[in-house]
Amino acid sequence: MSRAKVVFLGAPGTGKGTQAKKLSAKYGLPHISTGDILRNAVKMGTDLGMKAKSIMDRGELVPDEVILGIIKNRLAKPDCKKGFLLDGFPRTLAQAEGFDRLDSVNCAIQIDVPSDVLVKRLVLRRTCSSCGAMYHLEYHPPRVEGVCDICGAALVQREDDSESVVKSRFRVYVEKTEPLIGYYRQKGVLYNVDGNQDIETVFSEIVQIIEAAGEVNDEG
Ligand code: AMP
Repeated sequence: MSRAKVVFLGAPGTGKGTQAKKLSAKYGLPHISTGDILRNAVKMGTDLGMKAKSIMDRGELVPDEVILGIIKNRLAKPDCKKGFLLDGFPRTLAQAEGFDRLDSVNCAIQIDVPSDVLVKRLVLRRTCSSCGAMYHLEYHPPRVEGVCDICGAALVQREDDSESVVKSRFRVYVEKTEPLIGYYRQKGVLYNVDGNQDIETVFSEIVQIIEAAGEVNDEG
């Protein structure tokens, strides 16, 4: 069976990370989130983190060469041999083209959600400062306010989930990332999913797409 090489397309808050985590657990494929890698670099205070922080706080994009360097290093690790789930990458045409020089994509999954629903999802989103578990103050609140159900650490709002930054992230998405839909459609690997449904329904639709494409073996 060929390797599952999946990218997720979709505006911020469409559920790319949630779905990629679930697929990673089901198929044993690495979930590679450039946003998580950058947030981790910020937390560790590395050179990369120091350069990226102010860009991320404004909702803008980290330069393509930096991102391509991160991806190149990550793909060289042995766990990527049987495939990968890319979440938040590529975000520009230059990243997609740069990636095609390193490897290829056989499933680009575009998750669609109306923008008014997305603003509400992001602004009310909270993340565990320790294990990364995600909550939503209205749809999936923690049992105890401000505390992670799983590990007990404090919940925080991502700095870029404030309303003004969310708006600029959407603008950047429309301008820089949406053109990738046409790019992958032209390659014949684009699949569309309605993300305005519950998490499990979206998940089962994505599983069907990936399995119909014949790209994965269930580890479960
Ligand atoms: P995310 O968690 O994917 O929403 O990413 C959070 C922030 O990290 C973005 O708003 C960007 O500032 C930065 N970032 C993540 N992935 C990329 C990428 N592929 N290209 C440029 N910037 C990125």
